[in-house]
Amino acid sequence: MKNYEIETKCVQAGYTPGNGEPRQIPIIQSTTFKYATSEDMGKLFDLEASGYFYSRLQNPTCDMVAAKICALEGGSAAMLLSSGQAANFFAVFNIANAGDHVISSASIYGGTFNLFGVTMKKMGIDFTFVDPDCTEEELEAAFRPNTKAVFGETIANPALTVLDIEKFASAAHKHGVPLIIDNTFATPVNCRPFEFGADIVTHSTTKYMDGHGSAVGGCIVDSGKFDWMANAEKFPGLCTPDDSYHGITYAEKFGKEGAYIYKATAQLMRDFGCTQSPQSAYLLNLGLESLHVRMERHCLNAMKVAEFLEAHEKIAWVNYPGLKSNKYYELANKYMPNGTCGVVSFGIKGGRAAAEAFMKSLKVAAIETHVADAHSCCLHPASSTHRQMSEEELTAAGVPSDLVRLSCGIESYRDLIADIEGALNNI
Ligand SMILES: *Cc1c(COP(=O)(O)O)cnc(C)c1O
Repeated sequence: MKNYEIETKCVQAGYTPGNGEPRQIPIIQSTTFKYATSEDMGKLFDLEASGYFYSRLQNPTCDMVAAKICALEGGSAAMLLSSGQAANFFAVFNIANAGDHVISSASIYGGTFNLFGVTMKKMGIDFTFVDPDCTEEELEAAFRPNTKAVFGETIANPALTVLDIEKFASAAHKHGVPLIIDNTFATPVNCRPFEFGADIVTHSTTKYMDGHGSAVGGCIVDSGKFDWMANAEKFPGLCTPDDSYHGITYAEKFGKEGAYIYKATAQLMRDFGCTQSPQSAYLLNLGLESLHVRMERHCLNAMKVAEFLEAHEKIAWVNYPGLKSNKYYELANKYMPNGTCGVVSFGIKGGRAAAEAFMKSLKVAAIETHVADAHSCCLHPASSTHRQMSEEELTAAGVPSDLVRLSCGIESYRDLIADIEGALNNI
């Protein structure tokens, strides 16, 4: 698979059927697996042999789909999880403990911001949020002796800021810590963060990867390039014996390529159990088979819609990194030359009332708190997800009250634009 292009990997990576075996990935809907002797099973528990014993830790269907995403990202190992939230939690908690510190871009998904700034803070992990557009000096100043990772999103949801991955990677590496990138919005079809120095990639597979609004899920991929042993004093969890696994030292036993995912599976999945069901993994794989075809259409539709909006007199502003007028156009071109994502945000003249009136008359785009699936959908945060906030708080959060977020699906862009035009006329 390694030498094939990404389109071929989307369809075929992760599973190669043998003679007479099912063409499609089989759903292994079984919690447990049978062995002839206790000794056979004991080897699995000791991580001496690879195999399956209980689907809370690993399941063959999930592993085949994880292997596909691993191939798409160009990584060395990967695992599926129950959600994107679980993926980001595991990705950080696998290498940061109570008393540690992590640097994150401030422009990230609201759920992740809450996970880091509130819930993981309660667990004793301190986060510093930095402006993604900060200078190298400002980024440098955020590091502390106990910093264990740097985190950011390729294209932030919902702010649509584009991260300068190389800037963040070089700062992280200078301090002997990995860069973790949430690549949900770009997908590996449009950006492969490992090619720009990222060490670990996470996904909410709920979005474009599943792509049909059918299954919540997450994934973590390891590039296999970060040298844990060279920074052993920072990562005792990977570089010293694990008492809960008979004294295994993950970085010694599984090397750079396997240690991180082995530990996250053997320890965190064992203890937290945020597994994806084989049924969901099957649906996710169906989505992955057409990811490359759909991303192209999502991006085309978003570009056409963004250009239409930019030229419309009732529109105050448009934010889409594919537009030449966009602050992130150059960065987007560097990291995502084939397109960014299908999400566009914009402001309607007349503020909150105009935005609400506009959305009420849309027919193709439905009102949903979701993004990134085949169906177009839109959201007015000020009157829904962010409705507890005052005008001042909304502006400070980068979600002004006139902001409408439109996730362009894969319908005809002509229908989508006609729908938007009609709704704007109705204001
Ligand atoms: C949706 C989303 C998440 C959270 O994923 P869930 O699957 O909803 O748990 C994380 N990061 C980004 C960028 C997202 O868009």
